Amino acid sequence: MSDCLFCNIAAGELPTELVYEDDRCVAFDDIAPQAPVHTLVIPRQHLVDLKSADDPALLGHLLDVARQIAAGRGLTDFRTVINTGAEAGQSVFHLHLHILGGRAMSWPPG
Ligand code: AMP
Repeated sequence: MSDCLFCNIAAGELPTELVYEDDRCVAFDDIAPQAPVHTLVIPRQHLVDLKSADDPALLGHLLDVARQIAAGRGLTDFRTVINTGAEAGQSVFHLHLHILGGRAMSWPPG
């Protein structure tokens, strides 16, 4: 087993219900949801963060999957977030995109 939590989820080595999967990414609901819908989209490939992700096709795919998941959940308004680095709030160092929706949100984020 990898020492990366999200690599283990992507590899099916941790019991996690996937809401979406394909050859490049998987998606699952956040364990500590911050909104009625809070889903994470992660690449199967281990990339520490957005700074390490230099494949535009993969990045576009993650966004496209996020769009499809939001539509599938019936969200017309939603927020997508990628925290990059601890100071920005990143706590799991495997690139992931948050999809948050189902409630009104404020700006700027904390
Ligand atoms: P970030 O703070 O941007 O790195 O986001 C990491 C997210 O991963 C947090 O929202 C956590 O609640 C979530 N998380 C951590 N462990 C798990 C897990 N085992 N399954 C689902 N989500 C998780």
